[in-house]
Amino acid sequence: MAIHSPFRNLVVGVDRKLPLVNGKYVTGINFDNAATTPPLHSVMEELGDFAPWYSSIHRGAGYKSILSSDVYEEGRDVIKKFVNADHTRDVVIYTKNTTEAINLLSYILEQKDDKQVILSTDMEHLANDLPWRDKFLVDYVSIDEFGKLSLEDLEMKLIHYGGRIKLVTVTGASNVTGYKNPIYKIAKLAHKYEAKILVDGAQLAPHCPIDMKDYESLEHLDYLVFSAHKMYAPFGIGVLIGPKETFEGEEPYCKGGGAVKLVSHQFIAWDTPPHKEEAGTPNVMGVVALLAAIKTLSSIGMQVIDNYEQNLIHYAIAGLTSIPDIKLYCCAGNKEDRLGIIAFDLPGIHHELLANILSHEAGIAVRNGLFCAHPYIEKLLGITNQKLSDIQKNPNVPCPGLVRMSLGLYNNSDEVDILIDLLHQISKNKKAYIQKY
Ligand code: PLP
Repeated sequence: MAIHSPFRNLVVGVDRKLPLVNGKYVTGINFDNAATTPPLHSVMEELGDFAPWYSSIHRGAGYKSILSSDVYEEGRDVIKKFVNADHTRDVVIYTKNTTEAINLLSYILEQKDDKQVILSTDMEHLANDLPWRDKFLVDYVSIDEFGKLSLEDLEMKLIHYGGRIKLVTVTGASNVTGYKNPIYKIAKLAHKYEAKILVDGAQLAPHCPIDMKDYESLEHLDYLVFSAHKMYAPFGIGVLIGPKETFEGEEPYCKGGGAVKLVSHQFIAWDTPPHKEEAGTPNVMGVVALLAAIKTLSSIGMQVIDNYEQNLIHYAIAGLTSIPDIKLYCCAGNKEDRLGIIAFDLPGIHHELLANILSHEAGIAVRNGLFCAHPYIEKLLGITNQKLSDIQKNPNVPCPGLVRMSLGLYNNSDEVDILIDLLHQISKNKKAYIQKY
């Protein structure tokens, strides 16, 4: 049965026609939502409505400056409510994106010389791997044969390090396989062994509810990060949420105006968090955009969005599975433990060529390659260290990778059908397509 999104008309650009290689135009299909999402109409409208009031915040005494400051500051409470962060104990720090948020936290935590081990996982985006590497001893929770996180290995490692783990840092959902991690079970385990937990919510936040839970709960999420550009508000803002005390007393990650109370040549008196971590002129328009997106997503209901996308993802998986030689990297567990992200390959056609064919023949945007999750895909594909070192040394060796389709709340099943039909054709006529491109 066809699945039509009731949310399609909320999104900008969904009916935009794109040129094909044959000179014809078709309505573009965007299956690259895990990378970034188009803006909502409500976001554009709020930006337009706010623009006449925009002004420099915090330091201005003018009416517009005060109004802009209020929007910026009150936005923190809206964001806290969205993920049920603690109203008084947590701070929301505005960053550029998830990557900057994790870099910031890693910098702050490095200054606290209590425990020096970070437990990351084999399925992380590089944003939740590289910032830790130069500052801590980093170990990785392993994955099973399907690419799912091993909770047994997590507990073994927590025991092995005997209380030395500062943080378990884990993605809420994978940007490669779409697997959702059991973040509350992971939080419980981390807390049992006196570690904190950071959830990388970049993929989770646009698709399903997140609840940071009370501090008293063992399931409490200590830190959460996400990016607005994956939530239909692509205007350069992200957030880091965590306990205020983490950021008190430490050197800020970025230093300059706006982060201080008073400075002389003899001393620097830093401001309190979150302001201390937000040096420079802040991205107020980005905050306005994020707040507008949160308003629209919340009025639909994150659970409603999740339910809609679950239907579509199962429709897509069923269709893709019907293609004879396709290999999917997504289908191991319970139906509900996943997001609308499917990585696949079609043996005999390089991922880059396949992605190009989909674009040129049908105006379908997918992503190909290693999706900034190199170690995860290397493990999923079973690539040996020897092979990796050959690839690194020789730029002529084709880089391994996959093709990824990722859904948003506005995608429909007829778009999925177009992709599946074309993949069927490509699979049947590989030589002809390879010759053509
Ligand atoms: N974490 C995950 C799971 C992601 O999918 C991404 C981006 O794709 C990031 C982190 C980095 O997000 P950003 O590029 O917004 O910093």
